[in-house]
Formats: sequence, structure tokens, C-alpha cells
Amino acid sequence: MVGTGYVGLVSGVCFSDFGHDVICVDKNPRKVEMLRAGEVPIYEPGLDALMAKNVEAGRLTFTDDLAGAVDGADAIFIAVGTPTRRGDGHADLTYVMAAAEEIARALTGYAVIVTKSTVPVGTNRQVKQVIARANPEAEFDVASNPEFLREGAAIDDFMRPDRIVVGVQNERAAEVMAGIYRPLYLRDFPILTTDLESAEMIKYAANAFLATKITFINEIAALCERTGADVKLVSKGMGLDGRIGNKFLHAGPGYGGSCFPKDTQALARIGQEHGLPMQITETVIKVNAETRRRMVEKITDMLDGRLAGKTIAVLGVTFKPNTDDMREAPSLTVIPALIGAGARVRAVDPQGHREAAELLPGVHWFDDAYKAAQNADAVVILTEWNEFRALDLKRMARRMTFPALADLRNIYSARDARRAGFLRYASVGRADYI
Ligand code: NAD
Repeated sequence: MVGTGYVGLVSGVCFSDFGHDVICVDKNPRKVEMLRAGEVPIYEPGLDALMAKNVEAGRLTFTDDLAGAVDGADAIFIAVGTPTRRGDGHADLTYVMAAAEEIARALTGYAVIVTKSTVPVGTNRQVKQVIARANPEAEFDVASNPEFLREGAAIDDFMRPDRIVVGVQNERAAEVMAGIYRPLYLRDFPILTTDLESAEMIKYAANAFLATKITFINEIAALCERTGADVKLVSKGMGLDGRIGNKFLHAGPGYGGSCFPKDTQALARIGQEHGLPMQITETVIKVNAETRRRMVEKITDMLDGRLAGKTIAVLGVTFKPNTDDMREAPSLTVIPALIGAGARVRAVDPQGHREAAELLPGVHWFDDAYKAAQNADAVVILTEWNEFRALDLKRMARRMTFPALADLRNIYSARDARRAGFLRYASVGRADYI
């Protein structure tokens, strides 16, 4: 498993739990050192215990020696990052191609090189060329195996997937892949075998669709605010329709994270390159940026249009709960805007503090929501960590200079807030405010 980030590490640990012998490789020696010492470099519930169990069983090891790991492997997974390339929105394939070349030089016998990273259509064919060029003697096949796990629920998603997608060019590679996923296959989790291009496209289409669903309800939320409708009821009413479903229909501050922003941008770019602009996806990207801006306006309005000199406590900075991942988190837009307008910002996050500190200069960090609210002019709930879902609002309001609550995840209601002594309450897509 080449790359031990959120996807590579979870996949490596889970494959070893299936009973396979797994060597996880990373080029970052500090990560490898941590992993060898039994420490998990990311926050992902349950990962430390599962990792320890499989290391103990002798099936899981860590190294920075890629050649040693590749030697004798039946399959080599590429799970390195594919961030947005600066300037044009294209997925940056530098890490994938570098890994492919390194793997090529280390190949000793037949192996399947599997791309798990999210990559544009056509990349697996390029990987094949890169390997063939770097090592003309190599006996290998390529496979596309996009990953659908969600951070925060990654192990369960990997062990109980809605589906596994495997793109291959021949039966030999399909058999190796079937062997790897046999434990899931035996338990009736669907495995969809496709060509390389379809597998690559499925991942982008799925992510763009989910981003569209979130963005759709966020836009409806904005209209609810103008018309007096309540987006919570609207999304419930929509979600009960089996054709629509209730997932990804929660209005909030806009999508973020390591996947949706970069994958929507990459899909838009792929469309442009093929002379077929992905108009829906391009609009989703714009509306999502607009949604984030609206959140800043909402907080500003709640404080009567003046942020200068105000103290604001932000609860939650990671892009969603149960992860320490800060990539493209809404907090990275909202907090600098508040600071830029002259507010003093305090922040609390159960796991994100370490990752976020450098990305959010000027923020004062607290380890407790009530302490952060002391003498504050507003509390903003930005990420719905469990511990922010059952706040003692009375205790919070009492210690604030001006009790105002911007509930950007629609956890509470104006009634809850008023009863607790808040003088202002704002949420998303509901005419429910003070
Ligand atoms: P990440 O940035 O957390 O991890 C990538 C790791 O690869 C890093 O540890 C880096 O040091 C290592 N690496 C880079 N080049 C290497 C090389 N040549 N040899 C060895 N190690 C190398 O990335 P991630 O979030 O795990 O995402 C990986 C891929 O999976 C991306 O394409 C992403 O789009 C996709 N994906 C991510 C998620 C998610 O929830 N994070 C979900 C599905 C798919």
C-alpha cells in the first residue's frame, strides 16, 4: 500500500484484517516512525485498535523502503494524494506518476498495480505507459479501484461498503482483485467489475452528485429564509421520497473536506478539456462558495452589522465531525473573514486543533466550549461534533457578554435559545431566529 494517508492507512489496516499480508509504505519518514511506534498519525475512530491487532498478528508492517515492499507483492495499491493543481483545477497527478515509476523499477514478478487514489479518466492508461516505459521487462496489469470511504466512519465503510468498483483490462487482473476482496464478496457486498475508464468516472460522478445534493439543499435553504419555509421540514419531506432519500440533505455552511471540492473542480476541468463543460458541477462549485459567504453575512447580521471589536467563539473547525482533517473546511473561509472584519476569534475543536492552528493564524484556542464563550459576543457552531449537540445553553448564555448563537448546523431552535437566555439566534434555512 503506497501512501499511508486517510485512505492508504485505513485500506492497509482493513486488508490486513481480512488476513492478507500488508506492507504500508510512505515517503514521509516521520509518519513511518510514528506508525512503527504504534501511533496513528490521523484521527479516525477505531483505527488504532485495529492497527495494533494486525501488527500484533504479524500481518501488517510499515516502511519507507518502497522497493523492498514491492518485491514479491501480488498487488500494489497507489493511495497517494491527488490535490487540486494550482491555477487550473486539474487533479495533480505528480504523486501518482512518481509512485508508478518507483513501483515499476522495483517490480520483480507479475503484479497488479491498483490505483486507489481518485484520478481523472484516462489516468490508469497513463500509469500503464509510465510503468512500461520505466521497466520494459515488467510483467503487470493495471486496475482502477476507487475508494468511497468517509472519514470519521472509514473502517465501517471499508468493511461494509455499498459497493466495490474494480476497473480492469483482463481476467488475470480481475482474479487478483477478486482474491483481495474475497472476504467482502463472500458476505454479499456487491463488486462491480468494469473497464478502467468507467471505474475512474464512477468516482467523480458519485462525488459530484453528492456535492450537488448538498448544494441543492443549501440553495433551497437560502430561499426558505426569504419565504418563511423551514428547510429542516422541507428536507424531511423531500427525503421521505424513496427516489430522493434523506442523506446529504442537511443544510449547513457548504461542503468542504479533502474530496468534494477537489473532485468537483477536477470533473469540471475534465469536461472543459473534452469540450463538454459540466455545467451543473460548475454551478455547484459557485453556489457552494456563495453559501460560505452567506454564513459570514449571517453572523454579521446577527451582530447588527458590526464585527469589529467583537469576541466570537467558534465551536468546531474541522470540515465534519470525527476527523482531524482540515482540508477545505468551511472554517478556513469563515474564520479569516471574521478576523478580517475586526473580530477576535476563539476556537474549540475536539481533534482539529493541532492541524488547524497553523492554518488559522490569529485564533485563540480553547479546550472547552464554555471557557471559550466566557465574555464572548457570539458563539458560532460550525462543525456538529457530538459534544456540541447537547450544550447547556443556559450555562453558556450566562457567561457571555452578549448572548448570541449562530447555529450553522441547525442543532437547536430559537425557542431553545430564547429559553436559555440568548438574545439572538440564527440558523440556516429557517425563519426561526431571534
Ligand atoms: P493523504 O494526503 O492523507 O495521504 C497521502 C499519503 O501518500 C501521504 O502520507 C504521503 O506522504 C504519501 N505519499 C505521497 N507520495 C508517495 C510516494 N511516492 N511513496 C510513498 N508515499 C507517498 O491523502 P488521502 O486523503 O488518503 O487521499 C488519497 C487519495 O484517495 C486521493 O486521491 C483522494 O482523493 C482519495 N480519496 C480520499 C478519501 C478521503 O476521505 N480522504 C476518500 C476517498 C478517496
